[in-house]
Amino acid sequence: MSLLACEVAIVGAGPTGLTLANILGQAGVETLLIERNAETVHEPRAVSIDDETLRTMQSIGLVEEVMADVALDYGSHYFSAGGRRFAVVAPTTREYGFPRRSAFTQPKLEATLRRGLARFPTVTSLFRHGCARVEEQDGGVLLTLSGPDGTERQARAP
Ligand SMILES: Cc1cc2nc3c(=O)[nH]c(=O)nc-3n(C[C@H](O)[C@H](O)[C@H](O)COP(=O)(O)OP(=O)(O)OC[C@H]3O[C@@H](n4cnc5c(N)ncnc54)[C@H](O)[C@@H]3O)c2cc1C
Repeated sequence: MSLLACEVAIVGAGPTGLTLANILGQAGVETLLIERNAETVHEPRAVSIDDETLRTMQSIGLVEEVMADVALDYGSHYFSAGGRRFAVVAPTTREYGFPRRSAFTQPKLEATLRRGLARFPTVTSLFRHGCARVEEQDGGVLLTLSGPDGTERQARAP
């Protein structure tokens, strides 16, 4: 069985795993990103992106691409079942240099983050690979992965 070596293995290419892989790639860390699905998501999920997240996108060099798909500064209006607006959250300060509450679409963000990984030769993405098992071993972890045709591979970190 082939053994893949890396410094950090990330299981899951949602927004969290994709962002972490970009951060580690920028730092030159040998990273293996494992995702059981063939692609990032297509259906809408999360809708709000805050200033701290935009700052994180800035730190990985993707804020312009991300902001191209973001409705900036929209705030949130909360309505009762009867249609009465009972709360508005619309912060206007810019502590981190970005609007504090903006709207985004998760599929577009994930696609941008995945494209961003192409900049980093130290990041390997394995889509269509499920992580079936994680074992602690000699101070590291051994992952057993199941590839698209059911073939098992193992990865070790570190
Ligand atoms: C229908 C729906 C609607 C939502 N609406 C909102 C909303 O309106 N507002 C909001 O803020 N949030 C919303 N969310 C939540 C938001 O989508 C999540 O908070 C966000 O996706 C979490 O990101 P993540 O990267 O931590 O995890 P995920 O996006 O869940 O990513 C985890 C990834 O890990 C992969 N994975 C898991 N186990 C394995 C394994 N063993 N091997 C390989 N891969 C694996 C999965 O396939 C997945 O791609 C919604 C979620 C759903 C499902």
